[in-house]
Amino acid sequence: MSSTRAEVDLGVLRANVAALAERVRPRSLLVAVKANAYGHGAVEVARALEASGDVDRLGVATMAEAIELRKAGVNLPILRLSVTLPDEVPAAIEHDVEVMIADSELDWLSGTAGLRVHLKVDTGMHRIGVRPQDAADVARKLEESPVELVGIATHLATADDPGADERTGAQLARFQEAVSAVEVAIGRQLDLVHSANSAGLMAHLGRTGPGDGRELVRAGIMAYGYRPGPETPGTVRTRPVLSWYAPLVQVKRIEAGERVGYGATWEASEPTWIGTVAVGYGDGYSRQASNRGHMLVAGHRCPIVGRVCMDQTMIDLTEVVASGLNPSPGDEAVLIGSSGQNRITADDLASWMGTISYEVTCLISHRVPRQYV
Ligand SMILES: *Cc1c(COP(=O)(O)O)cnc(C)c1O
Repeated sequence: MSSTRAEVDLGVLRANVAALAERVRPRSLLVAVKANAYGHGAVEVARALEASGDVDRLGVATMAEAIELRKAGVNLPILRLSVTLPDEVPAAIEHDVEVMIADSELDWLSGTAGLRVHLKVDTGMHRIGVRPQDAADVARKLEESPVELVGIATHLATADDPGADERTGAQLARFQEAVSAVEVAIGRQLDLVHSANSAGLMAHLGRTGPGDGRELVRAGIMAYGYRPGPETPGTVRTRPVLSWYAPLVQVKRIEAGERVGYGATWEASEPTWIGTVAVGYGDGYSRQASNRGHMLVAGHRCPIVGRVCMDQTMIDLTEVVASGLNPSPGDEAVLIGSSGQNRITADDLASWMGTISYEVTCLISHRVPRQYV
């Protein structure tokens, strides 16, 4: 094979969600499968999650993502986490997708029988949601409309950061107040109350909601094996689900003083074995890794030399050759995963790119086939 591929280990995924479910029970568990399941492949991941029996709900961002899952035969309840505009409501009803109500403009509510909604309260992130002081009023209007109000939610901005505990606590207190006001206004308890993402689950469980079957925990990144932030407490251990490989397509020796890649940004200071790897930013392997990142070949760390190109990237194989091996076209380089004693994680790639693991796996492009094991 002369092209790159990602390997998605569904056994690891199942073990991860089993560990998350054990931690959150008796609460219920939503797993976010938006953005192609954080790059892992939405349909295959959703099917595995449904079959696991550990997951109660799936979270998507767009209506198209929800419809893709329904067309693939996924039956779990689906909650769309992002804003749904009025013109998308018929599709939400048709495909049985729960939506977030995030604003107090409700003039579109007639003709919405069958629509299941969660009221999103903005307790401080200021992304989407109604203001806490408006929540009871909006809930009352929803209750009087044809929609079915099933839940109330908020989103935490700093739950991954122990240094921002006070801010998170303030958000949770505002949420608790809004939940109480809503339940008084509508004269009943809501079926679902939710505020915890992966970071909330790891660091704040116990104050994120009622703690019983009415609380929903919305996990994403932890299911795929990464921590939300470097400081987030590791109260549940999960392992990376995705590995990423690409083949060497050419190996050659260059002399001291010769340069590699666009812009000739890397110069050999001694005779150097250069390997060209069939992966580039067209596959979602960031150009930020130019002259900074590395790949693994036969257990050795091989620095990226020169700039990452659209379809190819050059690495320094000198250490591999010095060890007596004969790296050749067709041999595989590991971009994310293990080789011998060495390992590269999406967190490593993220540090070279100046971003977070979430973005690394989301960016793996459509061109990279996902293989499920
Ligand atoms: C994506 C998303 C999550 C999951 O976040 P993680 O940090 O990956 O756990 C939770 N809630 C909402 C509203 C989301 O959009």
